[in-house]
Amino acid sequence: MIITMKKNTSAQDIAKVMDQLKAQGLQIHESIGENYNVFGVVGDTSRIDPKRIEANPHVDSVVRVSSPYKKASRLFHPDDTIVEVNGIRIGDKEKLVVIGGPCSVEGEDMVVQLAKDVKAAGAVMLRGGAYKPRTSPYAFQGMGSAGIQAMVAARKQTGLPIVSELMSIDKLDEFVDNVDIIQIGARNMQNFDLLKAVGRTDKPILLKRGLANTIEEWIMSAEYIMSEGNEKVILCERGIRTFEPATRNTLDLSVIPIIKKKTHLPIIIDPSHATGDWELVEAASLAAIAAGADGLMIEVHNQPECAWSDGAQSLRPDRFAEVIRKGRAIAKVIGRDL
Ligand code: PEP
Ligand code: MN
Repeated sequence: MIITMKKNTSAQDIAKVMDQLKAQGLQIHESIGENYNVFGVVGDTSRIDPKRIEANPHVDSVVRVSSPYKKASRLFHPDDTIVEVNGIRIGDKEKLVVIGGPCSVEGEDMVVQLAKDVKAAGAVMLRGGAYKPRTSPYAFQGMGSAGIQAMVAARKQTGLPIVSELMSIDKLDEFVDNVDIIQIGARNMQNFDLLKAVGRTDKPILLKRGLANTIEEWIMSAEYIMSEGNEKVILCERGIRTFEPATRNTLDLSVIPIIKKKTHLPIIIDPSHATGDWELVEAASLAAIAAGADGLMIEVHNQPECAWSDGAQSLRPDRFAEVIRKGRAIAKVIGRDL
């Protein structure tokens, strides 16, 4: 429940209302946002009649928060959260971020070259999987630690912060020591132990939406991370399973305004996994920017036809540069930069 007191209400009058609620066993979250006169009430508020509170002449409004998430909720945190990584701000109203790189790291030379290419195209971060969640146990599973070290080398040469996917808790220390953003993949979106473990770190977490998860389930997964103390969560929509076989997944663009309304967290779009087809990546990227996404994460490869994973959806660096060029123009139209 969010209670807004009228402007200029004295601290004593606010405290009186809070004390009445505390006496009923409820917790008070003071000063929501910058506003000392707005506070939250957490607990079993079902027995509280909002009309009785509103009858207090100092109370402006009482809003029941029916959502099961709190820390991720826009109601409890009205200002946008900006997640900062080495000076790059994700969630900034002014500027979008583009993350580019291969689906899988295939070697140090390969990823260093791609890092240089995506940087030249305008990307501000490098992605690359070293531990890969593959449908088949016989498919390439990723280079593991050598892949992480190749990413570290690419960061050293280009200055680009690195994003990579963590699949299990036993590699957590390796990720905390080496990567700048820990990605939790779609398949692990509801691996609650993993979410809690990354919630106990202070690394930014890129949380992908599950293959077949609702928006509320996704936000609850963010809440798992945040409930452990780590509030640096970036949401990433990567398409969901529908009946439509023409694309690998169906890109749900409506999540952008919905996430912006329900939460204060940054949201980026992964048009590569969303479409599964490089020819669709540009259109999906431009649409995502127009719809208000805070950034894009795109798979890029120098020889997509030979990629060890996800070649069909990977862009060559020149096409990636073209997406950024056009994306910048769309961003300008809505008052943002890229
Ligand atoms: C990836 O980013 O390489 C990946 C495996 O993505 P997702 O978890 O969205 O399938
Ligand atoms: Mn991939």
